[in-house]
Amino acid sequence: MTYSEVSRRTRINRSALREWARNRDLVDKYEGPGDCVRCHPLPGLPHPEGAYSYLLGLYLGDGYISYVGDRKKRVWAMRIACADAWPGLISECVDALKSLRPGHPVHVTNRIGCKDVSAQWKHWPCYFPQHGPGRKHTRRIELAPWQDDITHRHPRSLLRGLFHSDGCRFTNPVRRKIAGEWRHYEYPRYFFTNESQDILGICTRHLDQLGIEWKMTRRNNVSVAQRASVALLDEFIGPKY
Ligand SMILES: [Zn+2]
Repeated sequence: MTYSEVSRRTRINRSALREWARNRDLVDKYEGPGDCVRCHPLPGLPHPEGAYSYLLGLYLGDGYISYVGDRKKRVWAMRIACADAWPGLISECVDALKSLRPGHPVHVTNRIGCKDVSAQWKHWPCYFPQHGPGRKHTRRIELAPWQDDITHRHPRSLLRGLFHSDGCRFTNPVRRKIAGEWRHYEYPRYFFTNESQDILGICTRHLDQLGIEWKMTRRNNVSVAQRASVALLDEFIGPKY
């Protein structure tokens, strides 16, 4: 058969088939079209990119990837811890996982004070190469160039994920005497707290991209307090819900 004919029947694109004819090892690694875009002989990008960027933010905050059951089967679970206090965030996390892998189950497990949102797949480490032994702040966390491409196209989704997992928006009540009268003001501000300097750097780099002013208030804490910058974050993050 011609490449075109095989391509038509298998729905595998022609250039991939040609690549495989040259390099048989790639065929053994292949697990079916549409399964893992990173393992494809011609790696693509996870999609939808916005959902991926959001999930990456959640993962960098409160997510981890671990083996499920038998190590030999190499099935991984992506787990994200979501506080019970914010049911809206739990369903947003479920939706993001579902849109990234349509038709595959997402589990919500009760734990004390929070829920684990998880999904199993052999290829989570391909999508989140930051996976590794030990806690995130004890090792280097760097985005792969292809992840950087996505997050710079979708900085708001990434920041939304980061602030949803390790951030908060709160209002500082302030009392001031003006012309003999006490007035009450509220200053909303955002905090992002993480022990990893690398993850803090990923956060501030994307804040910079959007022209949002920030300050380090502690070694592990980024604060956004300047009014116009808070307003920018309010456009796509807002209070947890
Ligand atoms: Zn893969």
